Amino acid sequence: MRALPEWLTDNRDTAALAAMLSPASSRSLETLAAESRAITLRRFGRTMALYAPLYLSNYCSSGCIYCGFASDRQTPRHRLEPDEIRRELAAMKKIGISDILLLTGERTVAADFDYLQRSVAIAAEEMPRVSVEAFPMSVSEYRALADCGCTGITIYQETYNSERYEALHRWGPKKDFIDRIETPERALDGGIKSVGLGILLGLSDPVEDTLSLYRHVRHLGRTWWRAGLSVSFPRMRPQTGGYEPPFPVDDHLLARIIFAFRIALPDTELVLSTRESATFRDGMAGLGITRMSVESKTTVGGYSVSDSKNSREKRDEGQFEISDNRTAREFCAALRNQNIEPVFKNWEPSYNGPSARINYEREVDRSASTITPETETCH
Ligand code: SF4
Repeated sequence: MRALPEWLTDNRDTAALAAMLSPASSRSLETLAAESRAITLRRFGRTMALYAPLYLSNYCSSGCIYCGFASDRQTPRHRLEPDEIRRELAAMKKIGISDILLLTGERTVAADFDYLQRSVAIAAEEMPRVSVEAFPMSVSEYRALADCGCTGITIYQETYNSERYEALHRWGPKKDFIDRIETPERALDGGIKSVGLGILLGLSDPVEDTLSLYRHVRHLGRTWWRAGLSVSFPRMRPQTGGYEPPFPVDDHLLARIIFAFRIALPDTELVLSTRESATFRDGMAGLGITRMSVESKTTVGGYSVSDSKNSREKRDEGQFEISDNRTAREFCAALRNQNIEPVFKNWEPSYNGPSARINYEREVDRSASTITPETETCH
């Protein structure tokens, strides 16, 4: 393996964060929560940005031990064709979603770069903000995606402990620890505007991983100071394969991680997905988290299926189980009960690049007919 990047072992900046994460910290959870809440209010106001994932394909060439899509699982495989993608987008728009994250597994013949690029172009015709969580790519591939309207990527390192990483990633391209850790830099070099980083809590020592994640954000922030950076702390959920996390993280520690990160990185977007329970998500809203997924489906074709009740949902298994199953309408009501305004659209397509501007002009032409009554009431 190539040498680890120098920033990964640089401890100069981490003392304050490490102190907040320690169970022996002099600051109680309540003290951290109050500080985190005040910073969140000052920097982000009483708002919550909302997005939803769209699984394009569950084909995968990697063998991550913790994932329901690993290539040795017996899960039925499928990829969405253009008309199916459009159906999914229509179902998502009906919910009110206008910020989407397109997902695939590692690069395969069935779901390769060309497939992903075509899918981004279709999505960018319908949605003002399109991000991608897929396989690591080259700078020129990221540039091509950006030209099609992709503005963000999400690429979790899962764990920054290289030995644990080696054991968890049994085969496939994702086994390359260094290639993955360098991916955000290639994406930003290729013109992608925002990058989401994360660790999968449960795989390795959570405090060590949190400190490494912090180093990664700081490294990118120093070098690509105009980039939008976001951070997620997903916890392992039950999945096909039944992998049990050896380092489980309880609510108390996850809350401490979120508050400490908000205090250490006041301007970084912190994300919490529907992996977490409704109770935990409601508790974290306004206290540090500024972006949440809503009404997520982790199956390929999950949105139009639940719309039409056809049979694919029964055939396909999701990547993992969702915990917060509330509808967007129910979730927005819960946010408003806390005096937090849900934000579905915070991004103009005209910001997305040349191709996306053309799509935007098309969208403006037909905008009056695309807003449904359901969308209006959700906003
Ligand atoms: S985590 Fe991603 S790369 Fe790994 S098996 Fe699942 S879909 Fe494939």
